Amino acid sequence: MKKIIILGTASQVPSRQRNHVGLFLRWDTEDLLFDPGEGTQRQLIRFKVPVNKIKKIFISHFHGDHCLGLPGIIQRLSLNQVKHPVEIIYPKTGEKFLKNLINCAVFHNNLKIIYHPIEEQGEIKTNSDIKIQAYLLEHGIETFGYRITDPITWNIVPSKLPKGLRKQALGELKKKGVIDFQGKKIFLHEVAVPKKRQIFGYCIDTKLCENAYKIAKDADVFVCESTYLSSEESLALNYNHLTATQAGEIASKSNSKQLILTHFSQRYSKNDLFEEEAKKIHPTTLAAYDGMEIVFPQVKRQT
Ligand SMILES: [Zn+2]
Ligand SMILES: [Zn+2]
Repeated sequence: MKKIIILGTASQVPSRQRNHVGLFLRWDTEDLLFDPGEGTQRQLIRFKVPVNKIKKIFISHFHGDHCLGLPGIIQRLSLNQVKHPVEIIYPKTGEKFLKNLINCAVFHNNLKIIYHPIEEQGEIKTNSDIKIQAYLLEHGIETFGYRITDPITWNIVPSKLPKGLRKQALGELKKKGVIDFQGKKIFLHEVAVPKKRQIFGYCIDTKLCENAYKIAKDADVFVCESTYLSSEESLALNYNHLTATQAGEIASKSNSKQLILTHFSQRYSKNDLFEEEAKKIHPTTLAAYDGMEIVFPQVKRQT
């Protein structure tokens, strides 16, 4: 099961309604955390997210609204004596800030952290098989957007299997892609169909750029910053941010199924305005609110 819980929706300054940004993503068996802004630990508690299961933390960039909650999360995981290692994926140019955040207060660190500094965009190898890609955005300081894709997996079509093939052999077939059976080679693609791979796109913070479209391409859920409304388009450009209209255009041109807007400027108190604006371009748009839950659609079996 895949789902998102929005932990915060504020850019720069939080408000009574909006915490700094933060996003929790359950990707089947893995719990991932994106951009823990200030207050993220408490938001996890508020929205009943089990902090102990977090396996990977993604930082897009080191502006405070995207990372000031990291020390609390790390210390909590350590306090809880979490056994699994926690991987942190972040721009290498911000390494100094990451180390500062982790070492900003006295605590006995029990946590094993695996660091994945990104030196250049592309695929990031971690200790799981989900596909993780980082894309360079345009935000004045080095910032990466992320794209998460299911690994390639196959559904065996029983009617295509030769008679007499034991079930135990199917594991080997899935693993190796081919097995020998009664003097013949059986190839996986001949007897199975690939499962549909789901895609999550995360694009925050940036001005309009080519890579935003690549992150959003065919995404089942595309989370995009929308700091401003189009009435403030020149401000958005000056501060390297997007408007709701631009987010709608990215989602629409990239064939994203569901657009979720977040990272709102404190100058606007109503989230509906963002949704209304982007919906004119991309009808399946929702403006996020703190605590919002988005469940990915079930994948239908292809035969
Ligand atoms: Zn921000
Ligand atoms: Zn920023």
